[in-house]
Amino acid sequence: MWRRYFSSNINSTRTLKEKKWDALVIGAGHNGLTAAAYLARSGLSVAVLERRHIIGGAAITEELVPGFKFSRCSYVQSLLRPSIIKDLELAKHGLKLLKMKAATFTPCVDGRYLLLTYNQKQNYKEISRFSKRDADAFPRDFVDLLLSPTSKVLNYWFETDVLKATLAGDAIIGSMASIHAPGSGYVLLHHVMGNTDGERNVWSHVEGGMGSVSSAISKAAREVGAHIVTNAEVSQLMIEDSGVVNGVLLEDGTQVYSSVVLSNATPYKTFMELVPQNVLPDDFFHAIKNIDYKSGTTKINVAVDKLPEFQCYKFNHPEAGPHHTATIHIGTDSMEEIGLACQDAWNGLSSRRPVIEMTIPSSLDKTISPPGKHVVSLFTQYTPYNLTDGSWEDPAYRESYAKRCFNLIDEYAPGFSSSVIGYDMLAPPDLERVIGLTGGNIFHGAMSLDSLFLMRPVKGWSGYRTPVRGLYLCGSGTHPGGGVMGAPGRNSAQVVIQDLKKYYV
Ligand SMILES: Cc1cc2nc3c(=O)[nH]c(=O)nc-3n(C[C@H](O)[C@H](O)[C@H](O)COP(=O)(O)OP(=O)(O)OC[C@H]3O[C@@H](n4cnc5c(N)ncnc54)[C@H](O)[C@@H]3O)c2cc1C
Repeated sequence: MWRRYFSSNINSTRTLKEKKWDALVIGAGHNGLTAAAYLARSGLSVAVLERRHIIGGAAITEELVPGFKFSRCSYVQSLLRPSIIKDLELAKHGLKLLKMKAATFTPCVDGRYLLLTYNQKQNYKEISRFSKRDADAFPRDFVDLLLSPTSKVLNYWFETDVLKATLAGDAIIGSMASIHAPGSGYVLLHHVMGNTDGERNVWSHVEGGMGSVSSAISKAAREVGAHIVTNAEVSQLMIEDSGVVNGVLLEDGTQVYSSVVLSNATPYKTFMELVPQNVLPDDFFHAIKNIDYKSGTTKINVAVDKLPEFQCYKFNHPEAGPHHTATIHIGTDSMEEIGLACQDAWNGLSSRRPVIEMTIPSSLDKTISPPGKHVVSLFTQYTPYNLTDGSWEDPAYRESYAKRCFNLIDEYAPGFSSSVIGYDMLAPPDLERVIGLTGGNIFHGAMSLDSLFLMRPVKGWSGYRTPVRGLYLCGSGTHPGGGVMGAPGRNSAQVVIQDLKKYYV
């Protein structure tokens, strides 16, 4: 088995050296793969070079506990652009979306719960149980959130704590910003722009885990001739004396030639680690160096021997209920709780009562866990990269954080801790080391107002081109930002195709 894998990789590396490629892509995240697919479709010869043993970056499936397949980083989908799904025929290449039966489920310690679905009438009834005024106000234009603090807008609109906290939960995803900071609502808006099969703001699990998104894109890319190589870490860009890109140097010393290189690595990694500093304009170098890569996220992937049973929502059935298929918000009975969890992190502590978004993909997907057992994904906040009360290197500290999360879930679903068979945990330094996410930031840089649109990745360079001729960015650090969207990859490929026509035809 090992010999077969090893020799197929040697062949791939050998092929890399055989010719000068029309384009190279550093990194096989879903955006790098998307870029490769669009470039190859336009007739260009393309090679993708991935440092890990698997493709997908933060959209991956890994079997870390035998029999349990985890969406190790990203875990739910709705942001992938419909035009990309169509252009690349991702359904034909194996992408199967499993629509959630409910949108969000927020259990409360006082025994109440809020279950929001995709049905306006049902939501009206559900919110009316708390407040008729809030039910009337619910279907409104979210645009105020673009500039104002999340808490200010939600307090103005609503009076029900659990409703405000459920919505605020989407605004803090992947962020270290407080819900009281102006502009903190943008991430919430970012998360309601997607769809599943044409239904707006409907989220889905992906059959086989999020790695199936990357796998389908890679099949589309390979079908049109893209060459994808794993275990191929790029250590440096090769740049001619004239300042123009000439290819890349791999860790193993292999030189791969091309006048066009797209980097799916973070802007920081690309310019601070792969490009020699002397070829970059000073102001650009300093702007990239100062991108905000703070992260408060720790992902815990858990294998359990039974479905969690929530004491506020009795569901006397062995199969999963609609609430099990939703994003389940734990520790967010009120916005005050989110504020306190965030405050801990600003003081250098992992939150004493973390905010947890729990999903149970095996509630819909029978291909990822043994019968009767389940995969539980815990997206937890807030956990600073640098701690003042311990270290992420310390196994005892790590275990105590995981147990804190499990114990918190026990308050809502008693017996959860004792159902745990095994788990894998990625704290911010792990996300950086394992996945390549600078600072552990899940979006390749904060999605704050000063780092969006024309300011992403930095002012003056939002068009995927860079100060180095022939080098382009194609990852989430570029417009329109993080999430499993594919848009940066596709947009970047389109800019490359335009430039190639302009300069070389
Ligand atoms: C814990 C977590 C949960 C998330 N949840 C969701 C979610 O549920 N839904 C959602 O839509 N989004 C989610 N996101 C965000 C989303 O996953 C990312 O924004 C997106 O996957 C990034 O894709 P990308 O292709 O731009 O970059 P990446 O996926 O980061 O890919 C970059 C690739 O480049 C490779 N690379 C880096 N340097 C080199 C080098 N020198 N040589 C070769 N290869 C290199 C890396 O190994 C990696 O494979 C989540 C992210 C995380 C981390």
